[in-house]
Amino acid sequence: MPKAARKPRGHTNEPVRIVFLGGLGEIGRNCMCLEVGGRILVIDCGIMFPEADMPGVDLVLPDFTYLRENDDRVEGVFLTHAHEDHAGGLAFLLRDVAVPIYGSPLSLGLARNRIAEAGLLDRTEFIPVLDGERRQIGPFDCEFIPVTHSVPHAFATAYHTPQGTILHTGDFKLDLTPVDGRHTDLSLLGEIAHRTGGVRLLLSDSTNAERPGFTPSESTVGGAMRAIFRDYPERRFIVASFASHLHRIQQVAEAAINAGRRVAFLGRSMVHNVALAREMGLLGLPVDRIIDIDDVAQYAPGEVCVVCTGSQGEPMSALSLMAAHEHKWIKVGPDDVVIISAHAIPGNESNVSSVIDSLMRAGAEVIHGGNAPVHVSGHASQEELKFVMNLVKPEWFVPVHGEYRHMAHHAQLARDVGLDAAHTPICEDGDMITLTDEGLEVERRAVPAGFLYVDGIVGDVGLGVLRDRRNLAEEGVVVVIVTVDAQKREIITGPEIVTRGWVYAPEAEELLEEAKTAVRDSLQEAFDQEVTDFDTLRRHARRALGKFINERTKRRPAVIPVVMEV
Ligand SMILES: [Zn+2]
Ligand SMILES: [Zn+2]
Repeated sequence: MPKAARKPRGHTNEPVRIVFLGGLGEIGRNCMCLEVGGRILVIDCGIMFPEADMPGVDLVLPDFTYLRENDDRVEGVFLTHAHEDHAGGLAFLLRDVAVPIYGSPLSLGLARNRIAEAGLLDRTEFIPVLDGERRQIGPFDCEFIPVTHSVPHAFATAYHTPQGTILHTGDFKLDLTPVDGRHTDLSLLGEIAHRTGGVRLLLSDSTNAERPGFTPSESTVGGAMRAIFRDYPERRFIVASFASHLHRIQQVAEAAINAGRRVAFLGRSMVHNVALAREMGLLGLPVDRIIDIDDVAQYAPGEVCVVCTGSQGEPMSALSLMAAHEHKWIKVGPDDVVIISAHAIPGNESNVSSVIDSLMRAGAEVIHGGNAPVHVSGHASQEELKFVMNLVKPEWFVPVHGEYRHMAHHAQLARDVGLDAAHTPICEDGDMITLTDEGLEVERRAVPAGFLYVDGIVGDVGLGVLRDRRNLAEEGVVVVIVTVDAQKREIITGPEIVTRGWVYAPEAEELLEEAKTAVRDSLQEAFDQEVTDFDTLRRHARRALGKFINERTKRRPAVIPVVMEV
């Protein structure tokens, strides 16, 4: 691709840096810092859902150390869109750094709720930006380009910097028939590329870089929904979707209303987002066809449709509670058709699968993305990704938003359309890139970017705690308590043994008695060797009990000796 001459001779332009704090190596916790003139603009601040090997973890955040250490340089946060993997971390970041948040009015409206719940509204200011607007945020010259995605009003952003234009696509697809008529603004992208002679650096969404072809338009889901409503005229419909996917919600509600049904919304975030979208004029539904969830029972199954949360199988969500027969208003049975209109995010697959099982066991028909076209992705597939590269002609390309394999495939796509391999580095969390007149340099692991695990209150779950939890989950724990008189060298009380997860104590009395004997013998042996200090006694007890457990059961629970003096 042609390189544009951007540099006047004999003059050096100020370098521009980007620090990746999250999202490059996993789907989730997207967060990066753009640095111009010594100031930092944070682009997105998301969470990641915990994986199966993170017991007890509620969510995972980017490591904010770099931002905390440079908090006086942070100009603001720009929110490309309001998905949790881009906005969910704001309520945590704001505790460390008080900054304004920029984004589309809808993104700000959706993000605001969580920040309000965390009691942090006084730590920020919400500043709306508009489609096509060009605006200065401190030293950052930003241009906001509409893109289509699985939440309305998402942005790609062009940052016009001393090192040329950096284009960040955000999450996007090229939906040519978007539900709301708001297209990815290809002409603006082309115009920016033309104006700048090809962008200097492209950062683009890698989620679907392995998927050939084009991602189908969101509007195809509407047709699929209408067909399914026709197929089951007598059954009640329960449709689960992301609460932020307002185009999906609109299409489901319209299909239901066209089929003569009434619509009820269920789930806290669903009710909240629908109210917000209707207030903002983004969700036009006839008032007389919307009913309260507690009125659903008054209608025949063929007269209603419930639109709810829980498409990810979240344990306390509306859909999970219905599946477990624990929902206050809705009992699922053979009269129901349940549509799961979403794709499971990595980490949630088994939850979704067990919810489907429970729904089917209750007699419901279950339709999901695996057996009907009731879901399309919100991310661009290979041909769309290449289209954007062709359009904006980047000199450098860094794939973002994906697991390593997605980013590696994306870099390959860039080479396929003609970029030099040396100009498509794959970066990871913690890496820092610097654009200078000479080119782009990557500094690996320049800043801390480990997972920050949240369980209840942020910050108190470290790697050590997680390792302990995994061990406890797999092997259990055995505590032995004994009181000794070290001077007289005798055991006064105990040993007592308490266990969780090793053996079930009421059914293993004999084994526990033998274990006590093993501990008693080892302490006696220690006394015989004139041992009187407690650390050594504890070590003896732990070693003896651990050996006994391993020999008799071939298990390795955590052994905690408590040796006390009278
Ligand atoms: Zn997204
Ligand atoms: Zn995303």
